[in-house]
Parts: sequence; structure tokens; C-alpha cells
Amino acid sequence: MVSRVIPVDTFDLVIFGVTGDLARRKILPGLFRRFVMQQAPKDSRIIGAARSEMTQDEFAALVRSAIEEFVPGAADKKKDLDEFLKVLRYVSIDASGDKGWRALNGHLRPDVVRAFYLSVSPSIFGAIAANLSTRGLATPESRIVVEKPFGRDLATAKALNADLRGSFEESQIYRIDHYLGKETVQNLMALRFANALWEPLWNSTHIDHVQITVAERLGVAGRGAYYDKSGAMRDMVQNHLMQLLCLTAMEPPSRFDPNAVRDEKVKVIEALEPVRAADLVRGQYRAGQGDASYAAHSENPATTTESYIAMKVNVANWRWSGTPFYLRTGKKLRARTSEIAIQFRNPPHMMFPDMARQKGNALIIRLQPDEGITLRTTIKEPGPGGMRLAEASLDMTFAEALGPGMDTQDAYERLIMDVIRGNQTLFMRGDEVEAAWAWADPIISEWTEAGNKPSAYDPGSSGPEDALMLMHRDGRRWREIET
Ligand code: NAP
Repeated sequence: MVSRVIPVDTFDLVIFGVTGDLARRKILPGLFRRFVMQQAPKDSRIIGAARSEMTQDEFAALVRSAIEEFVPGAADKKKDLDEFLKVLRYVSIDASGDKGWRALNGHLRPDVVRAFYLSVSPSIFGAIAANLSTRGLATPESRIVVEKPFGRDLATAKALNADLRGSFEESQIYRIDHYLGKETVQNLMALRFANALWEPLWNSTHIDHVQITVAERLGVAGRGAYYDKSGAMRDMVQNHLMQLLCLTAMEPPSRFDPNAVRDEKVKVIEALEPVRAADLVRGQYRAGQGDASYAAHSENPATTTESYIAMKVNVANWRWSGTPFYLRTGKKLRARTSEIAIQFRNPPHMMFPDMARQKGNALIIRLQPDEGITLRTTIKEPGPGGMRLAEASLDMTFAEALGPGMDTQDAYERLIMDVIRGNQTLFMRGDEVEAAWAWADPIISEWTEAGNKPSAYDPGSSGPEDALMLMHRDGRRWREIET
């Protein structure tokens, strides 16, 4: 299958924090690929901004090295790279000072799409938004994109929302959760709402439980100080896992429209029951396999921040009553994998002798490493020997199913193109973020007040023993964490 690339309108995109890690690794490489695919028009402009003083040539050299490092095969695309460098401008600007704003204004054109990407610390979102507005750089049509973390609790998220809304309308604000830009996540919506097959089964009558796993092999080395203020609940569950849960659990929106989709997601978050302490396990990896412990990367050797969390979540509505969602995420685990597994109930009558031993039907939606979908079914074991049952998978890896002509986009580049198109469907709305914090805050307060200490787990394992018990207690098992 060859993908259709639909060009976007000409744009001026300002990237604040253009010299930072995220811009180098994701934003600039993603934009380069969109120019190579001819989705981004050549008369667009990318205006980089940061405090550092730099000439245009020095900036071009910095971008060239980022692209060569992070886009496989870019060194062979010399002509494309030279063309791309022509759309770049650089302005030295201090978010909260006077310098640079006039020069920035000079690069912006009145008649093209205008977007400001804030790839900087959230502590300066407010200052940048206010400067853009008061100095007349923000027009009623321009868009502002902000990175995570969007707050560390409800109060800080509300303050950030107030800062942004002081200068921009909600319809102009694009809060990024890059998980929503993944091909499979959008395919989850296509799978559920473009096929008649699943909807009759998509409820507690037919689904026993749902498992959502985001496992990382890497630890926190190099990010210890940042991560220690956050932990797995704030860094992963409140945003990424919550988004996956919402897309799995939500009602079909009446149309594929940003507010219709986001209204349904908010309803799911508001239907979440508080998580009981007994339904939650926090973990922290110890030293092992030649690796330092989590605590060794923290500034506080007695840190109680969790590098792993597992929990049982109930969605209190008609569709999901009696079907728990088990969420888990952690660092330094056995493999890097992200998936949503829908475990169906057993047939009501066990007619074959060895049926009870079968794991039953499961639909597994894989986000990484190989995006794709697997349906686990029960079949007759081939060959002689009577009627014995076995497990077989109907597998679809997108890369194989869609073939070599497919233009596989990284989540960031897809999301940036959506910003230019003015489509907010895959971005979090302000009330959605606040609802997620309103759910997460009491859970965090409860363990903080109780002085809960995380359970230790070995690097390269599946997490702490207690997390296994969380499932065993309910007569269920986690799926293996494997690549
Ligand atoms: P970073 O490497 O620390 O870069 C920060 C950027 O901001 C630099 O370009 C810096 O350049 C600029 N900057 C700092 N203070 C400024 C000011 N007062 N005025 C103007 N520019 C200023 O950070 P990052 O890792 O790229 O992260 C950027 C944002 O993305 C953060 O919100 C982060 O949480 C989020 N994020 C990052 C990742 C990731 O993988 N890195 C993933 C998800 C989300 P100067 O020092 O020259 O000003």
C-alpha cells in the first residue's frame, strides 16, 4: 500500500527551545521528513528561538548535525537537507525579557498559518504566551503548542491553563501527548468505530478485563533529578496510560471532530472510581545486573519515588461495570513494550475437555516496538491425536501488512502537521488534563500521607512481586512483558 501525502498549507512555525534535546531528537528531524515527503510546502518557514547567541550559519550547522544524527539515511539526502536548511531562521530571544521579539516579528508573515511550539520548561509557558500576545505576534488564528508535563497536580495544571488562556483561546491551544500521535493509537479508533465487528463485544458482558502496559528497559540515568520529582504516576499514568484507557473505554463519538472525541474521553475520566490503596502497587528498582539502583540516580538516597506502578482501575458506567482495567508502567523492566490487551470472557459452555486450560480470546493492540494488532484465538491442534485445542494468533504488523510503500510517520511529525491543519483531535483539551489530575491527586495524596514506600524489584524483571499478586488475587495473570 502506498500512502497518500496530503500537503498542508504554507506555515511559519516558531520553535522556542530549538537548541534543546526534544527539538534536536524529534521536532527538527520530524519536520525534515515532512519536507522530504513534500507534505510541508517549501515556502514555509521554521524560526528557531532560544537565548543562546548564534549566527544563521551556526544555527544551520546545528540543525544539520541533528538531522544527520537522528534521521537514518539523511547523510545521503544532501540535496533535501540543503533545501531544508533554506527554510530555517534563528532568533536569540529570552522568554521573559525584551530582547528578540521585534526580530521574531520581522520573520512572521501575515497571510500564512502561524504556530508557536513551546519546547521549553513549563515554567516559562506563561511568559512566552503573554509576550506573544502583548507584543502582537499572536493573531486570532495562530496556534500555540505546549509540551508535557502539563502540571504536577490539579492546582499547577489549572495555573498553566489560566496562563495560556490569558493570551490564547482554547481552540488555539495544542497540548501534546505524543502517545496520541502513534499510528496504532489512531488505529484503535479506526478498529473500534470503523468496523461493526467489535462494538457488540466491546463491553463487560464479553470482556473480562483490559491490561494496559507501558514497559521500558531503560532506567532514569541522566534524568534522575527530574524524574524524582515526578515518578511513574505523574510521568506516565496521568497522561499516556490515561489516554490509552480513554480511547479503549470511550463511547463512540457522534462524529470524528476534536470536541466530540474529547467530550467522550472526559466522560471516561469522570467515570473513574477512586483507586483503593489495596489496588495499587508502587515499585522502585534496586541495583543488579551491573546497573545502579534507582536511588543512586536521585539526589536523595532515601527517595521513595516510584519507578514502577501497577493498579486496578474501575470505570463506573454501564458499559464497563464488572470489567476492571489493570494499568502498569515501569522502568528497567525486562523489555520495552507498550500494548493494550483486551481479554475476552470464556465461552459460556466448555464443550471440549481441555478448554479450561486455554487462555481464551484476546485482542492485543501493540504500540511498540512493532506497531500492530494480534487476535489470539483457540483452534484445533493440527494432526492426529483427537480433538485437542491449541492457541493460534492472527497477527498483523503494520509494517508488513501495509508494505514498503507506506510512509511511516513518527508521532511528533504527525502531530505537528495536525497543528498546521488546525486539527485538535489528537491533543488534550484543558478540562481533560484537569479531570485526569483531579483523579490522580487523591491517589498520590493517600500514599504520601500514609508514608507508603515502594517495593523493590530487580532490573530486567517484570516488576515487584506484589504487582503479580494484584492480578492473582482476582484469578487473573499479567501478560508476559516481552519484545
Ligand atoms: P532542554 O534540552 O533543557 O532545552 C530547553 C530549551 O529551552 C533550550 O533550547 C534552551 O536554550 C531554551 N530556553 C531555556 N530557557 C529559556 C528562556 N528563558 N528563553 C528562551 N529559551 C529558553 O529541554 P528539552 O528536553 O528539549 O525539553 C523541552 C520541553 O519538552 C520540556 O517541557 C520537557 O519537559 C518537554 N519534553 C521533553 C522530552 C525529551 O525527550 N527531551 C520529552 C517529552 C517532553 P537556551 O539555554 O539557549 O535558552
